[in-house]
Amino acid sequence: MNKFGFSLSPSSAINLDQVDRTFFNKLTEVEPDALRCMACGSCSATCTAAGYTGMSVRKVLLNLQRGRNEEVRKMLSACMLCGKCTMVCPRGINTRSIILNISKLW
Ligand code: SF4
Ligand code: SF4
Repeated sequence: MNKFGFSLSPSSAINLDQVDRTFFNKLTEVEPDALRCMACGSCSATCTAAGYTGMSVRKVLLNLQRGRNEEVRKMLSACMLCGKCTMVCPRGINTRSIILNISKLW
């Protein structure tokens, strides 16, 4: 095989039919608004912790929908529950309440 000095990255495609969404489904029973997130990123742009920890409500919800619960655990430990993300959400989602309920459901 020819060597071109680079290689292809592994596919990042996700087969949603094979993802374990048990935890996300449990969350939506107590927080149905989690389904209304449009992943705009306003919460992440405003987050007090994002700049130095990578915390992002948008990523938290996306990861839960993809069954990547361990990544969410790491991110949530950085949240200070300041509530800034809740104030800027254009969908009016109570993101702070979602974060609290995720921690309760673990
Ligand atoms: S601001 Fe609201 S709609 Fe936008 S990504 Fe965050 S939770 Fe989702
Ligand atoms: S409540 Fe948590 S996720 Fe929301 S802005 Fe504050 S530190 Fe960031």
